[in-house]
Amino acid sequence: MDTEKVESKNFLEVKIENDLANGVNDGRVLTRFPPEPNGYLHIGHAKSICVNFGLAQKFGGKTNLRFDDTNPVKEDTEYVESIKKDIKWLGFEWEGEELYASDYFDQLYAMAVQLIEKGLAYVDDSTSEEIAAHKGSPTVPGKPTPNRSRSIEENLDLFARMKAGEFPDGAKVLRAKIDLSSPNMHLRDPLMYRILRAHHHRTGDDWVIYPMYDFAHGQSDSIEGITHSICTLEFENHRPLYDWFIEKLEIFPSKQTEFARLNLNYTVMSKRRLRQLVEEGHVNGWDDPRMPTISAFRRRGYSPASIRNFAQKVGVARRDNVIDMALLEFSVREDLNKVSSRVMGVLDPVKLVITNFPEGKEELLSIENNPEDPESGSREVPFSRELYIERGDFMEDPPKKFFRLGPGKNVRLKGAYILHCEDFSKDENGEISEIRCTYYEDSKSGSDTSGVKAKGTLHWVSIPHAVKVEVRNYDRLFSAEFPMADPEKDFKEFINPNSLEVLTEVYVEPALQSAKVGEHYQFMRKGYYCLDPDATENHLVFNRTVGLRDSWAKKHGKK
Ligand code: ATP
Ligand code: MG
Repeated sequence: MDTEKVESKNFLEVKIENDLANGVNDGRVLTRFPPEPNGYLHIGHAKSICVNFGLAQKFGGKTNLRFDDTNPVKEDTEYVESIKKDIKWLGFEWEGEELYASDYFDQLYAMAVQLIEKGLAYVDDSTSEEIAAHKGSPTVPGKPTPNRSRSIEENLDLFARMKAGEFPDGAKVLRAKIDLSSPNMHLRDPLMYRILRAHHHRTGDDWVIYPMYDFAHGQSDSIEGITHSICTLEFENHRPLYDWFIEKLEIFPSKQTEFARLNLNYTVMSKRRLRQLVEEGHVNGWDDPRMPTISAFRRRGYSPASIRNFAQKVGVARRDNVIDMALLEFSVREDLNKVSSRVMGVLDPVKLVITNFPEGKEELLSIENNPEDPESGSREVPFSRELYIERGDFMEDPPKKFFRLGPGKNVRLKGAYILHCEDFSKDENGEISEIRCTYYEDSKSGSDTSGVKAKGTLHWVSIPHAVKVEVRNYDRLFSAEFPMADPEKDFKEFINPNSLEVLTEVYVEPALQSAKVGEHYQFMRKGYYCLDPDATENHLVFNRTVGLRDSWAKKHGKK
C-alpha cells in the first residue's frame, strides 16, 4: 500500500469547499464530535473524530466536543473522563471547554414551549403501545390519538405540570405535531419529551422530564452555531425532522451531512455489546487490549498516528461497507516499524553454551536501535558464554532448508558471532535442555574476517544478564469474521478461545529493565511489544501490539 499516494478529495471536503466558495456562514467552519457518555470510545468513534476534527483543521475551522447526555440512565462521569482522554491522546483539541447537551435543558424546554404556542406540539397521555399502534406503518398512514386536538392553553398547562413533577414516569409525553401520514416515520408526531425520574450526572434531580435525543441533538448543534453537522448514515432519515425543528423555531440552520459508519470485521463495535463483554467477564475491562476501544488500543501499543493513518486510508464513503481488520493492523505495523526500538527477547527459551568462550567473560556489543531511523543510535548489549535462544530455532534433525541451528550447522547471532553447533543434550522428558556450540572468534559482526558462512541470524539473550518478564500475546477477539451475522446465535459464541496467550518465562535483554509505558519495541523476529501499565519494576509485563506480518490469513486458510 502506498501511503504517499496523491490525495483526492472526499465528498465532505468537496461540500465544505463549495460552502466556503459560496460564502455560506461567512466562511466559518465549526464541526462537533457528539459522543453519548455511556461507554468508552471505539475505533468507529475514532473514525468520526478524525473526520470531524480533520475537516476543521483542513479548512481553518474549529471543533466542539459536546456530550450528548440526554439519557440520564446510562451515563456516567467515568465515561466523560475516558472520552476526553482518548480524544487528546488521538492528537486532537476541541474548542474551549467541553460542552454538554444538558447545559441546554432550559433552552430546549423554552423551545418546546414555543412549539406548543405555535400549535406545533401537544401533550399525549397515550401509552407507548397506543402511540405505536396509532403510528401506522410505512405503508399504512397513522391515526391521531385523542389528545392530538388539545388546545394550546391545555398543552402549555400540562407541559408545565409535567416539568413540575405532577405526573408519574411515563404518564405523558410531549409530541411534535407534524404529519401522521408522512412516508418518513420520524415525522409522524415524534416524541420530544418524556417523564423520567432519574438522577442525571450533571443536573442531578433538577429535572423529571428529559428531551428525546432527536429533539436535543439538532437544536444543540444550532445553539452552538455548528456549520457542518456530520454524522453517520443511520441519521439520514432523521434529517427532515431536525430541519423541521430548525425551521419552526427559526434558529441557526446547522446542516447535517451523513457518511457511512466504519464497520470492521472480526470484532463488534456497539457500546452495548462491548459493555456485555466487560460486564460478563469475557475480557478484563474496557481497555483489555483485545477490545476495539481506543483505550485498549493505547494499552496494546497502537500509536495515535497509526489510528489516524488508518482513518485516512479508509476514507469517507456514502455507502456502508466493511473494512478488513488487516488494514488496521497494517497501519499499526507501518507506523511502529518507523518508531520502534529493536530489542531482543526470547519467548520460548532454551539454553545454549559456547564452550570455547571463556567462563566469566562478558563482552559489550554495540547494536543499532533502529535501522529505519538513523537518529536512534545504538546500545550496548552484554554477551557471555551462556545464552538463551528460541527453542524453535534449533532442530535435532533439520531439513535442508532450515537456516537456523542444528548439529554441525553454522548460524550468526545478531550483532555478535557465528556459532558452530557441536552437540546437545535432552532432559528426562526428551526435551532439548542444552545446546553446545563453539564460536569463531574473528567473526564478530561488523569486523568479520573469518571467511566462515552462516545463512541465518538468530536473536539471543545472555543468561547472566537476562531479565525475566511476562508476555501477553493477543490475537483477534473473535474467530468469526462477522460475529453478529447470525441473528439466531449469541455473538459471544464466536469469541476466539486463543485470543490471549500468557507467557511467564520470557527473557529479555537488560535494556528493557527501563522500558516505559507508551514506548514501542520490536522484539526482533517476534513482533511489536509495549510495556503494560500493570507492570512493576520487579514484574515487567509486555503486550504484543501486533505480529511482524499478517499471519491471520495464512493461519486460518483465508486468501
Ligand atoms: P454505538 O452504537 O457504538 O453505541 P453510538 O453511535 O451510539 O455508537 P455515540 O456516542 O452516539 O455512539 O457516537 C458519537 C459519534 O460517533 C456519533 O456522531 C456517531 O455517529 C459516531 N460513530 C459511532 N460509531 C461510529 C462508527 N462505527 N463509524 C463512524 N462514526 C461512528
Ligand atoms: Mg448513540
